[in-house]
Amino acid sequence: MGIEPFLLASTLEVVIAQRLIRKICNSCRYSLPAREALKALDKNGHAVAPYFSDDDNVYAGKGCNVCNNSGYAGRSALFEFIEVTPEMQDLIVKSPSTREIETLARSQGSKPMFEDGIEKVRSGLTSIAEVVRVVEPPRTSTIAPEKRHG
Ligand SMILES: [Zn+2]
Repeated sequence: MGIEPFLLASTLEVVIAQRLIRKICNSCRYSLPAREALKALDKNGHAVAPYFSDDDNVYAGKGCNVCNNSGYAGRSALFEFIEVTPEMQDLIVKSPSTREIETLARSQGSKPMFEDGIEKVRSGLTSIAEVVRVVEPPRTSTIAPEKRHG
């Protein structure tokens, strides 16, 4: 960015990442079992599956006149907040890789953007397919242990 790392580290308090997602069309929204929605995801289905149990339902849009048969109408966003703690400042001045920042952020309890997406799937705002389209599902190693075995 052309900014000295020490300057960035000492002035940043929080980093917010955001990606736009399409919202499910209210006129043609329907619910379906999560496992059915996961089946349609091919390889990504495996990465997303641990977030849902067998009796979970999710939503999708069938497609109608209102949404030009896309199943989506309107936009929302997925967020991720990373607090710049003293530990994060120490890391930033070392010009870390994205992976290193991610690892520290997770250890400090920062929720991955993908999980914000999963919450928005659960609340019916958007579909699993849409979240996977905009955010790559984390590898299994980044899923919290309680979710991996649950
Ligand atoms: Zn529609």
